[in-house]
Amino acid sequence: MKFRKHLYALVGFLTFSLLISLNGYSQRQTTKQTPFVIKNVNVITMTSSNTILENATVIISNNIIQSINGVIPKNATIIDGKGKWLIPGLIDMHVHIPTDGGPFGPKLPTQGATLFMDIQNYMTLYNANGVTTIFDLGSRVEHFGQRNEIGKGKVIGPRMALAAMIDGGEGQGRRANTAEDGRQAVRSAKAEGYEFIKVYSDLNIETFNAIIDEANKQGLKTIGHIPEAFQGKLKDVFVPHFGMIAHAEELTKHAINFNEAEAKGMAEMLKKNETWLCPTLITIEWILKQVKSLDDTKALPTLKYVHPLTQSKWLTANKYNQWSDSATIAKFENYVKFNNYLVKACKEIGVPIVAGTDAGTSSVVPGFTMHDELELYVAAGLTPQEALASATRLPANWLGIGSIVGTIEINKLADLVLLDANPFDNINNTRKIAGVFINGKWIDKKKIDIALSELAKWNNANKDKYDWKTIMNKKK
Ligand SMILES: [Zn+2]
Repeated sequence: MKFRKHLYALVGFLTFSLLISLNGYSQRQTTKQTPFVIKNVNVITMTSSNTILENATVIISNNIIQSINGVIPKNATIIDGKGKWLIPGLIDMHVHIPTDGGPFGPKLPTQGATLFMDIQNYMTLYNANGVTTIFDLGSRVEHFGQRNEIGKGKVIGPRMALAAMIDGGEGQGRRANTAEDGRQAVRSAKAEGYEFIKVYSDLNIETFNAIIDEANKQGLKTIGHIPEAFQGKLKDVFVPHFGMIAHAEELTKHAINFNEAEAKGMAEMLKKNETWLCPTLITIEWILKQVKSLDDTKALPTLKYVHPLTQSKWLTANKYNQWSDSATIAKFENYVKFNNYLVKACKEIGVPIVAGTDAGTSSVVPGFTMHDELELYVAAGLTPQEALASATRLPANWLGIGSIVGTIEINKLADLVLLDANPFDNINNTRKIAGVFINGKWIDKKKIDIALSELAKWNNANKDKYDWKTIMNKKK
């Protein structure tokens, strides 16, 4: 009994301390920030009615859009929006954020990572490109820590949605090869705090079905690959509540004729099952380029912003470049063509498309490729409005955060991108960024340019320390 009493006292004290610190946090938030006002700006709200507010004044305080065309507070910081366009912060629905690594070799208890990533350097790429929300599709416990650093304001970066990956077969990570193990893996992932489940290529059919069913029972949405086991029986993968396919080529792999009629048939299966599509067109474009040669990777103007270890991997241990034969080139050329047919077919019959890049895959530079992806959607047949919806309102709704982000409306979070030109005239205008509001911070073009040039400088200065082959040899 005595022990219990002490325990309650301790729990009480902890709760009390927590309340104090939470209160301190919210006070810090309210007293520190002066309101921001963007004056005379054209607001592309991205609401479903596609309302555009010309020459509007947007008032932001404590990271919330307080009013549009309301009274300007006296102490506000004024941002001139004349001739500019304001869009909601972009959402990348398929990314892989690196975490600290190591130690390499035999590991003793107490030994943590030895190869550290500066997560701010990584997130700077998203900030610079107006990407204010990302969906990590292979999340680990470290990602919760990264998210908290962003929440605390120690790192400026996007909000993060986290999916736990479940695969079949043998090897590292969460694996399940029976229905019961699949269900248990879902329940464990939920208990660990993951918000979504990613299904992967080596699951068998029975386990895949069980995972999708259990995730729905547990209130978790599912996204992922189409397991290899469904080859020749694509229809069977469309079980109720399979929420989203993570790459267009997961479907393309099942194509036989690679024509538009076949794409339409697949789009109809998605539609009937209410499964959404995250195409990641930029990844397959890059795979094709790298299969042919590494020249485009070497010439990438954004390569200098990529961590030197990653640069080294892309240039010296590029797995796609190792498949350089004419049959593989022809295969991926067909994939690129059919992926485009799929996007067009999905648009035509109303399958929701959400923008994702698979950033982290070789040559797919985080942040910058978001704009490439949108450009590819327009080339495939989407209007600029539809492309922008795929990176704002639609993914916010799928993630279940449509009440706080995804459109520009009063009382929503101020995830905002100020553009120098109208993205509806040309989708490439999403690249013309004058400034970004992210997690209550206003980062103007000047600050973005400084952050990027410092990042490039650091990457360049540290090249020798991060040779891929040297580090991988230590691992053995
Ligand atoms: Zn991926």
